[in-house]
Amino acid sequence: MSFQSQGLDRKGTSLQAVGNDSGPMPFKVFTQRDLDRIEPLARLPEAMRFEMRVVSTVLPFRVNKYVIDELIDWSNVPADPIFQLTFPQRGMLLPQHYDRIAALLAQGADKAQVEAAASEVRNELNPHPADQMEMNMPRDEAGRRLDGIQHKYRETVLFFPSQGQTCHSYCTFCFRWAQFIGDKDLKIASSEAETLHDYLRTHTEVSDLLVTGGDPMVMKSRHLAAYLEPLLHPDFDHVQTIRIGTKALSFWPYRFHSAEDSDDLMHLLERMVMAGKHVAIMAHYNHWKELDTPAARAAIRRVRSTGAVIRAQGPLIRHINDDAEVWAKMWKMQVRLGIVPYYMFVERDTGARNYFEVPLVRAWEIYRDAMKQVSGLARTARGPSMSASPGKVEIQGVTEVNGEKVLALRFIQGRNPDWVQRPFFARYDADATWLDHLEPAFAETEFFYEQEYRELRAERLDAAAEPD
Ligand SMILES: *Cc1c(COP(=O)(O)O)cnc(C)c1O
Repeated sequence: MSFQSQGLDRKGTSLQAVGNDSGPMPFKVFTQRDLDRIEPLARLPEAMRFEMRVVSTVLPFRVNKYVIDELIDWSNVPADPIFQLTFPQRGMLLPQHYDRIAALLAQGADKAQVEAAASEVRNELNPHPADQMEMNMPRDEAGRRLDGIQHKYRETVLFFPSQGQTCHSYCTFCFRWAQFIGDKDLKIASSEAETLHDYLRTHTEVSDLLVTGGDPMVMKSRHLAAYLEPLLHPDFDHVQTIRIGTKALSFWPYRFHSAEDSDDLMHLLERMVMAGKHVAIMAHYNHWKELDTPAARAAIRRVRSTGAVIRAQGPLIRHINDDAEVWAKMWKMQVRLGIVPYYMFVERDTGARNYFEVPLVRAWEIYRDAMKQVSGLARTARGPSMSASPGKVEIQGVTEVNGEKVLALRFIQGRNPDWVQRPFFARYDADATWLDHLEPAFAETEFFYEQEYRELRAERLDAAAEPD
């Protein structure tokens, strides 16, 4: 049953008229092949364009005209944060990887040879961090893996609809970068609404569905509706929250007010809210600039007018937002626009990690310096948080216990819910950038959760080793 057949006025009397100050803009996207056709890039030195060609041979690149024209300040390139967020930079590859691909391109090597080298380089990066494939994908009673579903924390199921596995632009630091290369084996996707619905029907412990990608907002509204409308049936009363992870509010705000099916999307959100679901748009933001255009503000107003809540999350990234002032300004702007700050993440083990990573201690300093500047309504942002395989681990701060300098940590989410909110301590390490670099404090041999985590992991990997 579609939402249109519910007798809702398509034009929607309850939706406020929306000003779209920038006028309609056709969606136009550029990839590696089109580097020479991006007009403001043509003004940059040829050497820089060559570097971009080299890096985008290995890592995915895609940017649209709105980002180019309205978000990037071309007078401040290459330092501009949105330029760093979307355009490949030489430092994103290790020198030996860069040199290998650059040499092939410079000598005009054929396509197959370049692709073979690029593929080898990618395999040396980390295409699927944190055991995502084996550790988080549930299996049915027959032991078959349920593609497109991840279920790591008891309350929340992640769903990756197959039509939503791309984005309006790609973030250079994306930890899901491998799925954009076209390697089918690495994709985490599903075309099966039925698989999702069957899973949710029988898993009554699940209160939250998080539709993610890629970006589910690249989907047609009717496809999104096909996944979400059935959840209004009483069989799914336990699913109280529907979250949609997206960067479209930043990269393509026109999705919400000037696409052919924008009204259908608004009606879908509104109908789910009216039916008693909490609808949360989990918006990915890295910088206040993404909130600061007329098109972005119109999109935010319109989504909020449906009764959906917008929550903001994003990683702390060197070259983009490793600055307390940027976070404070972003959180303040979010609160003013009615958006709830939710998470500050630590950049995880992604392809170009060496370029983007910020030490944990430094991340905490930035978080704290930003928090000090904002009111309580913006202090809803938790972090800095590492989405590691055992769970989401927050750095709570640096302190001293019995003369030993330590990092205080806690699980915000854990594979075992019982791990949550227990303080634990690591030896101070100013250079550590991830959980696995940390050592337990007080001469302990391991952290409190490690033995149990090893057992959980062995169980999962055993199950995975059985033939499908
Ligand atoms: C972050 C995350 C969730 C959601 O956790 P919340 O703390 O409820 O926002 C669910 N599943 C996975 C795999 C996650 O990383």
